[in-house]
Amino acid sequence: MSGGGNADTVGSLLASIATCLTEALRILMFADKRQWGPDEFEQIRALEEALDEAKKDYQEMSPLVHGQFYYQNDRTSMSIHELRNLHAKFEFHAQNFKDWARQGGPINPTWARETAELKKDLHRAQCRAAGRIFAAEQEGARCLGAFQVYRQQKRLEAERQQRRHDHNEQPLWQQQQQQQQLTAEDGATQYRGERPDDPRRRSSLEELVPSCNAVGRFERLGDLDAAFVCDFCDGFIVWPDLRGMPAARTTNTTTTTTPPPQAPGTSNDSASSAYPHWQATGQSRSTGADKTVVFAPVAIANHVAPGLGAWQAGILCPYCDEYTYLDQGEDSEEDVRYAQDEKGFPDLAAFQAHLEWYHTALAVPAMPPLASALPASISGCRVM
Ligand SMILES: [Zn+2]
Ligand SMILES: [Zn+2]
Repeated sequence: MSGGGNADTVGSLLASIATCLTEALRILMFADKRQWGPDEFEQIRALEEALDEAKKDYQEMSPLVHGQFYYQNDRTSMSIHELRNLHAKFEFHAQNFKDWARQGGPINPTWARETAELKKDLHRAQCRAAGRIFAAEQEGARCLGAFQVYRQQKRLEAERQQRRHDHNEQPLWQQQQQQQQLTAEDGATQYRGERPDDPRRRSSLEELVPSCNAVGRFERLGDLDAAFVCDFCDGFIVWPDLRGMPAARTTNTTTTTTPPPQAPGTSNDSASSAYPHWQATGQSRSTGADKTVVFAPVAIANHVAPGLGAWQAGILCPYCDEYTYLDQGEDSEEDVRYAQDEKGFPDLAAFQAHLEWYHTALAVPAMPPLASALPASISGCRVM
């Protein structure tokens, strides 16, 4: 037992946890392997994986929060509390192997599962520890998990701009998109996105799917709902009554024949191509009918940690960041709605309602002249 007590830091507790793992591994390495079956080798593998992931996380978290020194010496009380509890569990787990070495006989096959569970707990504890440092520094901003997806999105967008510039490419949205569905029915599911082979399709939102999987997990919630749970803030994003998470956005047929978009506000292209493309088509789990949902990366890249006592992550509207709708007038109720507070929308349903009202083209009639003949309030004056 470490007597460190009050001197504990994130770094010292992670080191103690790593010691538990290396000790357990050493016991197995030096054991007499002549009687071993698959369970013993499986156990070694589980311990090695846990140790590798702990190191990898440690190395990856540090640069996200101003470097190793900062992360290592952090003493955020929640993080210390969590890691102390986790350390106790790892010590208890490691004791199994010491006892086993003394007594001999086959290894308990359930221990490998325990090791894998502890590995996951440790991963999330490290994510949360880094997330707390990040949150303390950047009040009101995205959670660290969202920030990583958002940063990747900006990186890809910059690359795409560069490529367009270099190669005078066909615009991304002219490419056909194939709808893929995540069909796993229960349990933790891996959300697989497209692997765009065409370089022109790269850096679309679909490309953020791996980043989303790296910062959290998709789960079923109750009988009907699908949820994303962020490893960094423990916040849930809930898609009500959804069978599978769409891995691509809905193909927007209205934009396939329109000219390339120009700078916002300077073009006379159709309203639909000037609006953000956030929609994906999923199926209702209760009725099987198609329904429009928010494409997962849009929500994940813009979520904020749940407030005190809440479990659902708030969601910031990325399009209100880009286009300001705020009227500098009386503080009417409408203004309050546009001015995003730092908590964002309280849940995905509220976010989707906002997107439908303010960031969605109305169905454009087949004859363009008719559209321009409509009163401005109907034909999409919100574009600007
Ligand atoms: Zn989060
Ligand atoms: Zn908005």
